[in-house]
Amino acid sequence: MPSDKKRVAIIGGGVAGLIVARHVSARTEDYSLMLFEQTDQVGGTWVYTDRTEVDKNGLPVHSSMYKNLRTNLPKEIMQIPDFPFKNEDGPSFVHHSVIRQYLQDYAQHFNLFAHIKLNTLVKHVEPVILSDQTTWLVTYKNMATLEETTVRFDAVILCNGHYTVGNIPNIRGRSTFNGTCIHSHQYRLPEKYKGKNVCILGASWSGIDIAIEVSKYAKKVYLSHNLPEGLKAKIANNVEQRAGIEFIDGKTFHFRDGTSAEIDDLIYCTGYKFTYPFMSDKVKIKTDDNHVEPIYKHLVHADTKNLFFMGLPGIVIPFPMFHIQSQYILRILDGHIKLPSSEKMKSDYEKEKNMLLQQGIPIRHIIKMKERQWAYYDEIATAANVASFPPVIKKIYNHSNAMRELDFMTYKNYQYRIIDKEDFTVCYGKQE
Ligand code: FAD
Repeated sequence: MPSDKKRVAIIGGGVAGLIVARHVSARTEDYSLMLFEQTDQVGGTWVYTDRTEVDKNGLPVHSSMYKNLRTNLPKEIMQIPDFPFKNEDGPSFVHHSVIRQYLQDYAQHFNLFAHIKLNTLVKHVEPVILSDQTTWLVTYKNMATLEETTVRFDAVILCNGHYTVGNIPNIRGRSTFNGTCIHSHQYRLPEKYKGKNVCILGASWSGIDIAIEVSKYAKKVYLSHNLPEGLKAKIANNVEQRAGIEFIDGKTFHFRDGTSAEIDDLIYCTGYKFTYPFMSDKVKIKTDDNHVEPIYKHLVHADTKNLFFMGLPGIVIPFPMFHIQSQYILRILDGHIKLPSSEKMKSDYEKEKNMLLQQGIPIRHIIKMKERQWAYYDEIATAANVASFPPVIKKIYNHSNAMRELDFMTYKNYQYRIIDKEDFTVCYGKQE
């Protein structure tokens, strides 16, 4: 690589990594890049596999897609602004294979494969400080030849995803349960739950989605969660909501509301952990309680200024958010955005965190942006000097959320069409 260009390492070839690569590779006069992807394909979690334990390279399976999954956001708002979906007449909530194909097409369209090293696992990232500048030694392993190589970079962008390592709560008596027990990361198909009593723990997106699928085969589904008000929207008739699990005694599950039930199978839908196993101990990253510290603007490590974290905020519209975030990162690397001192970045981070905690938001939920997402997009888009989301995106998002709040079973039957920056049409028709 010529030494006058800034060398950028991108770790992970899911949608975040691809979008960053698209923007960095458009600037070949200033940057050179390598994108490392441990599997044999790009697309990250959208690359479905029947496997649940290890992949072809003997690494833990990355994808958490299940066989019948359809998106939980309409494709009209998921699409990346400079690469619209081809089949704009099809359903809005598409099968995961459509997204996988879309991401392959994106990589092809922007000629990204020239910069991508497939079957290449990043094993270690080490900061090296040279005359006040941090550079990064990235050690990667070719999974075919097992050869390891170390290359120096000027910036590292972490796009390694965070829906792979399941969070399993420590429930009293869980070792006494001898039914099947998996995390949603390993869930693929509902048929095996035919005639069974299934407990699904956790009622976030995956918990509800999997409960609906499994209920088509199971005798009964107990959807156990700690949401104080319970879920108001319609779920299948044989799905019963229960409080969280208090303790397990063999097949008998005791719930916090004092009720109990006999359970054959347990599926944990209890979220995931952020992990950066390749990162040097010299880089201080806190990943407890379902969030990452200390990260400025949900992107920049407050100590280093050239180490970036993609994919941290939850309850957002990830693909177009990555599109803006990538351009924000480039403006930092270009020197157009002057980051404040490390102390100021840390104190900004703490200020936002404390404000959320004071609002009564539990620490493990502070990454959920929800209503805050719109101001965040506008802020970083302005700083990056690019367009933020047009108003129609928020309108469709709000409509689809409202339909979901009414009925979990049918909201994916709506079809949205964008008319212009402000308006959309919506119609209802059952999708297969
Ligand atoms: P990933 O897609 O996880 O990609 C990370 C990549 O990094 C992988 O390819 C992995 O192999 C690679 N990698 C990891 N470690 C290394 C390493 N050490 N070396 C080299 N490569 C490495 N979002 C939506 O917008 N709409 C939806 O409907 C939706 N549904 C979802 C359903 C499920 C079940 C899940 C799990 C997520 C869903 N999401 C949805 C969120 C989804 O995760 C994001 O949209 C997005 O795909 C995240 O992309 P990513 O690039 O950050 O991570």
